[in-house]
Amino acid sequence: MTMKVAFVGLGTMGQPMAKNVAKKGHALSVFNRTPEKAMPLKEAGAAMAASPKEAAKGADVVILMLTGPEAVDQVLDGPQGVLAGLDAGKTIVDMSTVPPSYSRHLSERLKSRSIAAIDAPVYGSKKPAEEGALVILAGGPQAKVKEMEPLLLSMGKKVVYCGATGQGSMMKMFINLLLGVMVEGFAEALNFGKLGGLDMDAMLETAFSGAMNSPMFQVKAPLIKENNYPAAFPLKHLAKDCKFVVDTAFELGAPVPVGQVLLQLYRLGWAKGWGDQDISAIARVLEHLNPKA
Ligand code: NAP
Repeated sequence: MTMKVAFVGLGTMGQPMAKNVAKKGHALSVFNRTPEKAMPLKEAGAAMAASPKEAAKGADVVILMLTGPEAVDQVLDGPQGVLAGLDAGKTIVDMSTVPPSYSRHLSERLKSRSIAAIDAPVYGSKKPAEEGALVILAGGPQAKVKEMEPLLLSMGKKVVYCGATGQGSMMKMFINLLLGVMVEGFAEALNFGKLGGLDMDAMLETAFSGAMNSPMFQVKAPLIKENNYPAAFPLKHLAKDCKFVVDTAFELGAPVPVGQVLLQLYRLGWAKGWGDQDISAIARVLEHLNPKA
């Protein structure tokens, strides 16, 4: 069944995701703060809206793919915001990476307007977004997630039902903490070995030959080896996500000692001006901390 869908946030991820929604025949209306980024969607047959309010008018579902909580609030509120245009009884699917507490707060706020909310952040970066192969981590009432599943599957290969409202965002915290640990750990070990006189290719051969091998290491190794970091997932986004992890852990009383350190390291990389490079540019941060020759 096709729906009337509004898509707000056409950045690195939102643009290919919206294109895949259009490909499945849904009637699509789009808005992006920087209008030029919406142009490829015009070519894909979407209606160009002049504001989030205009995009949401008449929509069954509004999908948000924005940087974080501040951007979501700005897009929803105000005279030109989504909430000024969306009818009661409709649904907002927030696919942005936000803290679980924010997703729960948003859902309560929308409930008072009789608008349903699901949190559905994504696991996978630009290439899976282009290929419609994201893993979608959904939280909210199970029946509502089921109802949204065909739409979600236009952007992803799989929907994982994570539990009540906020649990999709909690699953995203879980997987991004693991991602941050793995990528930093790999870069740290390589930097350590290099200072100890080991050859890069020999270290990679060793890492890939046993139980420590991982597809993530395989993907990041050439970037670290070449010291060149075109972004699959930009470092500034992981720095932001580490902050959400640490805040969430504080609320839960959960120990994340390594998560605390990761926040410092990825934040330092962002401050050094490497925020738009790939997360594996964490190797540059470690190199920066090396003793100077
Ligand atoms: P992005 O390229 O930086 O795009 C961010 C989007 O948010 C843009 O459309 C931007 O509009 C909009 N935005 C930011 N602040 C806004 C504001 N105050 N008002 C209105 N619009 C605003 O980010 P992305 O890579 O697509 O990521 C989007 C979300 O997915 C983030 O939460 C990120 O953590 C998550 N994510 C990213 C990846 C990845 O590999 N990139 C993977 C998984 C999850 P403008 O174009 O006008 O700036």
